[in-house]
Amino acid sequence: MSDEKKPANFIRNIIEADLAADKNGGRVHTRFPPEPNGYLHIGHAKSICLNFGLAEDYNGLCNLRFDDTNPHKEDAEYVDAIKRDVRWLGYDWGDREFFASDYFERLYEYAVQLIKQGDAYVCDLSPEQVREYRGTLTEPGRNSPYRDRSVEENLDLFTRMRAGEFPDGAKVLRAKIDMASPNINLRDPAIYRIRHGVIHHQTGNEWCIYPMYDFTHCLSDSIEGITHSLCTLEFEDHRPLYDWYLDRLQVECHPQQIEFARLNLQYAITSKRKLTRLVEEGIVEGWDDPRMSTISGMRRRGYPAAAIRDFCDRIGVSKADNSVEMEILESCIRDHLNANALRAMAVLHPLKVVITNYPEDKTEELQAPNHPQREEMGTRTIPFTRELYIDRADFREEANKKFKRLVLGKEVRLRNAYVIRCDEVIKDENDEIIELRCTYDPETLGANPEGRKVKGVIHWVSAKYGLKAEIRLYDRLFTHPHPDSDKEVDDFMVHLNPDSLRTLTACFVESSLGNAKPGDVFQFEREGYFCADAELCREGRLVFNRTVTLRDTWAKIEQKG
Ligand code: ATP
Ligand code: MG
Repeated sequence: MSDEKKPANFIRNIIEADLAADKNGGRVHTRFPPEPNGYLHIGHAKSICLNFGLAEDYNGLCNLRFDDTNPHKEDAEYVDAIKRDVRWLGYDWGDREFFASDYFERLYEYAVQLIKQGDAYVCDLSPEQVREYRGTLTEPGRNSPYRDRSVEENLDLFTRMRAGEFPDGAKVLRAKIDMASPNINLRDPAIYRIRHGVIHHQTGNEWCIYPMYDFTHCLSDSIEGITHSLCTLEFEDHRPLYDWYLDRLQVECHPQQIEFARLNLQYAITSKRKLTRLVEEGIVEGWDDPRMSTISGMRRRGYPAAAIRDFCDRIGVSKADNSVEMEILESCIRDHLNANALRAMAVLHPLKVVITNYPEDKTEELQAPNHPQREEMGTRTIPFTRELYIDRADFREEANKKFKRLVLGKEVRLRNAYVIRCDEVIKDENDEIIELRCTYDPETLGANPEGRKVKGVIHWVSAKYGLKAEIRLYDRLFTHPHPDSDKEVDDFMVHLNPDSLRTLTACFVESSLGNAKPGDVFQFEREGYFCADAELCREGRLVFNRTVTLRDTWAKIEQKG
């Protein structure tokens, strides 16, 4: 167990009781079972942290298992992406990478066993008829006319289903349970269906019958020796079926299914299907677009994996459906970056400043701390020159005392450098300010001389050495806290935020950022946290994505609006 004791929750209580009773021989074995039909999102991160985290805490194991029973929607690209994301989150499944399709032969044998026991039959009803016979929540279903076929006939038909003798939809293998059960999942559910002509990413064209999820899932868990099978609440009504298969087949290992509430994150989408639409309709630049609530999107945005793990710990697990505020995630990101990100200076909206009393050919190599509290993070060199850039928003010709930046005729401190005074404003023919003429005070490097008060501090970049960069300001992708559960509209797309991306192409960043590696995150002082874009910086461009603002500005904006 890890040294730090994690807070109790109902799942940990179950596991601890099981350990105390020596159930499962004291083993804890979980699994994370994604379907490879899309990229993982923040909801999956919760499931990953839960499953791998419990295994870590109780000296157990966690498997990675691809639930690949739905071949026409799945793809090897997704398998690779899922592995990359789980590994990046900080978890290791060792050599326990499995596919439900690894078990197709054994699952087939289990199905044959059910037939032999009289617990399954081949049914010829069409899909529409099956629906009709199933009944409703208030009415019992009716038995299929094929329900009483003999074991021999069922075995023969099932063998021929596998051999490819019947077209799609002509027959299904069904469990013989109870058409009058109040739980519709128990009304003779399908076990195998026919699917011709699909090329499965693992098994190719070896099979033309595919097992259903409920049948596959419990048996895959059992085959792998899983002790605690954690899933989301929508599977609660499937638990009796999960248990029915395992009981009937008298398997050695009967895992316990435990359900917990899904993570819903405000202003975000946690559905692979809807995320797929955003990608396919070109609303975003891809699965890893920094605005996406995918793990790859969050990585590209600069969210640290440790901050996402912290977030998952912080929100905990429960049985009650809820929706988590985006501020909680963002505050975890800020906490981590505030403690760990290197500081740097970047000017997003450059305004030229000429220091008239500074020699034209002079460069001073000033030293600046990489982190204000952590000396061990060292210092960097920032060149000071006659021509600089400051941000347009940091200058006003006139302002009251509340404006603690540069004002015509007044002084301000340049961060990590000198105090300057603005003497003159140069404008173009449209009356737009294009340059400031300032003088610097050589006695003010690092600290104010005795008795001199200069309150404001602004950031800057040397015009001579600064590097041109593109900076992408991201905002929430949706303007509605629950974009996909708003009953008032038909389509979650109406809630897209038209201003979710603003690109600034003429920014200047300090020269040390020329060494930034793709994926590095910095605090641009007074501006926020920014991540060197993992794709675009590789092409030799300098592109930074805003990871998160310094403070929660969104709350303010909402109040104003
Ligand atoms: P989606 O609707 O996005 O496709 P899913 O549940 O179908 O989600 P799977 O690939 O089947 O996706 O999920 C793998 C695991 O992750 C499952 O155990 C599932 O319960 C869990 N999971 C999926 N979404 C969430 C979520 N929002 N919160 C917590 N766990 C989740
Ligand atoms: Mg699923």
